[in-house]
Amino acid sequence: MTKQYFAKGLFSNKQVVITGAGRGIGAAVARAMHNDGAVVTAHLGREQSSHQWTFPADSDTHVNTVCADLATLEGVEQTADYINSQCPHVDVLIHNAGTMLGRVPLDSMTAEHYADVTNLNSRSVVLLTTKLLPLLKLSNAASIINVSSISAATGGSAGSSMYSAAKGFISTYTRSLATELAPHGIRANAISPGTIDTDFHQRYSSAEKLAATAASTPLKRLGTAEDCVPACLFLASAELSGFITGQIIGVNGGTSYV
Ligand code: NAD
Repeated sequence: MTKQYFAKGLFSNKQVVITGAGRGIGAAVARAMHNDGAVVTAHLGREQSSHQWTFPADSDTHVNTVCADLATLEGVEQTADYINSQCPHVDVLIHNAGTMLGRVPLDSMTAEHYADVTNLNSRSVVLLTTKLLPLLKLSNAASIINVSSISAATGGSAGSSMYSAAKGFISTYTRSLATELAPHGIRANAISPGTIDTDFHQRYSSAEKLAATAASTPLKRLGTAEDCVPACLFLASAELSGFITGQIIGVNGGTSYV
């Protein structure tokens, strides 16, 4: 069930772009923005079959969707072209698409795995941001939200070194964006989720690992996709967080890393 959040019209008619919105954290955030009145241009995932978001009617002029593989240069280009064709400007840009692409121990690391993980989790964020800057500058108070990870700070668990390093890049890049884009009135922040119970961990973590993580989390549970929504609404809204930029907000049940 979709929760009703506190936004109460803060996003009414705002142009919101979000990647990886077909399921998990991205779908929860996209739904909340849409329910609050935003015009949501949603990159869903690599292909149609990868999404689980149940959409409002096709006739709903407040949702535009595109699918493309963001690990490829063509996919980034296609997504940027689509957004450019749909949005008069961009008020909120949320880079959420990403994943681990398997656990690879350090002694089995390959150039191919390094490229695959970084192309998706960091290169796509850099290129899409660059391509959308003209639309962001047309907003009078744009907000970029990147989705980093607790593993950016901890280094992650075994086999996730490339993914964790790519997310470390995202945290640092967020701070660079904040400084360089401040003169344009564009804020840039990130959320840094802890372990959130989505498809991600169905693929990459055992039930035992997840139970151990929940037990070691101060709030004694895993997060949900919905847990990530309020931090995104807060960072997206200039009314709520207009003097906040370059920050990484942990959504992790009390684990002390961001
Ligand atoms: P998820 O697997 O449910 O969602 C990932 C989204 O990214 C999906 O919409 C998927 O289609 C999209 N995606 C994956 N590969 C893609 C590709 N090649 N091209 C285009 N789109 C692609 O997982 P989630 O937990 O909702 O993850 C969302 C974000 O949160 C990711 O960036 C992930 O790294 C990050 N994150 C998740 C956790 C967690 O514990 N679940 C923790 C920290 C950070």
